[in-house]
Amino acid sequence: MAPHRSPGPLLSFSEREILSAESTIVFHPQTLSNDVDTPHKPWYHYLPLCATVFLILAPHPSWLYVLVDFHLQTLHQPAFFVAHLIITYTLTFMAFSSLIVILARDPGPANPPPSRLEGAEGEGEEIGLTEALMPDRDFSSPEKWCRKCWAPRSERTHHCSICNRCVMKMDHHCPWVGAKCIGHRTYPAFVHFLCCVTFLAIYIAVVASNALWFAFQNPFAVHEFIPVHELGLAFTGGIFALTVGSFAVYHLYLISTNQTTLENIAPFMLLRHLPPLPRDGHSLSDPPLEAELSPVQRRIVRDAHGQIFIYDVGWKRNWVQVFGWNRKLGWFTRLWYGGACLGDGKSFPRNPRSEEMLAKLANDLVKFDSDR
Ligand SMILES: [Zn+2]
Ligand SMILES: [Zn+2]
Repeated sequence: MAPHRSPGPLLSFSEREILSAESTIVFHPQTLSNDVDTPHKPWYHYLPLCATVFLILAPHPSWLYVLVDFHLQTLHQPAFFVAHLIITYTLTFMAFSSLIVILARDPGPANPPPSRLEGAEGEGEEIGLTEALMPDRDFSSPEKWCRKCWAPRSERTHHCSICNRCVMKMDHHCPWVGAKCIGHRTYPAFVHFLCCVTFLAIYIAVVASNALWFAFQNPFAVHEFIPVHELGLAFTGGIFALTVGSFAVYHLYLISTNQTTLENIAPFMLLRHLPPLPRDGHSLSDPPLEAELSPVQRRIVRDAHGQIFIYDVGWKRNWVQVFGWNRKLGWFTRLWYGGACLGDGKSFPRNPRSEEMLAKLANDLVKFDSDR
């Protein structure tokens, strides 16, 4: 009698086959884009950066001429001459320091975290099936999975279509600083740069205006070309102070309310944060899409956007998130080049009132949808 054989599985894989299948699910660091924006940028992307550097340096010959002629040779005030030199060149040095940090530092690698890359030893970062399918992480949501990078993304991370990568706590893409995104790791340096350029422009405009005023009152005491330089400096300084200064003030407001530029200019991003909608009684998707909202619902979202600051945890704590430090002498790097934001850039404390306000917004949207 033939021995009884238990039926085997319909499909079986050798250990080698399983290993080979797993090896195809490997995300390499290069494709996961820590630095995918660095290579292959066309040369003309750097033209605005050249313009930025030129505009910062261009007034200096006139500025030195005015300082030497007006403060040294006309007024005979070497102390003021040295003081003006120290202040303006310290501000210029600080502005270039933060500009270099913006250019050299990655704005915020969304994937994979650098600590895990260190352990990968050049073999490529593996994200196993178990991790990719973790039940507590809902990657079906566009907020948590980037379909362009095909990788998970954390809170406040956005995909920049120009850099073709995800950027952690992305603020905006800035052509003027090397066609780079401003993100979690470069935002303080960016605000520092704006503030230094604004202070520099105000300082030069005020000193040049004062010298110009003196030239009008004492026309025979100054050389004939000096007023032209003074007028040019006062005018360009004023223009820069107004334009760059208005951006600087805008960013100081954003820091105080803990918003990024993207979050501030895109009211319909709020829809992604709405709590789950009731299943029946409306025709909206969950979360609702901007295109399916009526004009009234769109106005409701815009109004709510002006009041709901999801990450605002009080202006002091908001400022600490951007310019705080936890190392000795951290204040020095903040003053010198802006430093980097505190925290991991992936999770942020939320305004406790915002949940309630988002729930009210969701209710209003459903109510006006059922009234349609
Ligand atoms: Zn992406
Ligand atoms: Zn970008």
